[in-house]
Amino acid sequence: MSTFADRSVDWWIMSEDLPDPNNRVTLDPDGKIRLSYTANNLKSHSELVQVWSRHMRWLGYPLIITNKMDIKVSMHQCGTARFGNDPATSVLDPNCKVWDVDNLYVVDASFLPSSTALNPSLTIVAQAMRTAEHILGRWGEATRETPATTTTSAA
Ligand SMILES: Cc1cc2nc3c(=O)[nH]c(=O)nc-3n(C[C@H](O)[C@H](O)[C@H](O)COP(=O)(O)OP(=O)(O)OC[C@H]3O[C@@H](n4cnc5c(N)ncnc54)[C@H](O)[C@@H]3O)c2cc1C
Repeated sequence: MSTFADRSVDWWIMSEDLPDPNNRVTLDPDGKIRLSYTANNLKSHSELVQVWSRHMRWLGYPLIITNKMDIKVSMHQCGTARFGNDPATSVLDPNCKVWDVDNLYVVDASFLPSSTALNPSLTIVAQAMRTAEHILGRWGEATRETPATTTTSAA
């Protein structure tokens, strides 16, 4: 087995479940957490695995063993408060402000409509910085003017 392992290489290939409102976490009346999940996008996933397997064979690995992970190793949860241009289909506006509440912003992974099967952390951080700039533009000037006004009147 170790000889086999010594000549092997592991690859982690990521695909994504496309948005489905029925895939969600809910709370039962008795307080138990319920996860509803049906895998989708399986055709794309299988095509990705096939293409990668072809590449690996071409590189000289004749034996390919694949294993599909299940929901227990889901890592890029997002989309529970997705942003968008239309309040009818999104929770947040493009600046991550809740459409219905004027002073509430959401800046975690939930704004992403889809993870696009890529690592999302840097995008989450970038969007949070963009939202911070927006908030600064909206309220920052008024906040900064306060000490200046005080100084002027003291002088
Ligand atoms: C095993 C694993 C590997 C990953 N690898 C990568 C990777 O290589 N690259 C990448 O880009 N992404 C990776 N991710 C995904 C990435 O970690 C997440 O997408 C990202 O951290 C989500 O950011 P977030 O701010 O939405 O949530 P989190 O980072 O989960 O932050 C939520 C925070 O809220 C806190 N919190 C929760 N409830 C409460 C409460 N009631 N009161 C106060 N605080 C609370 C939590 O303690 C936590 O600190 C990985 C995820 C996992 C699980």
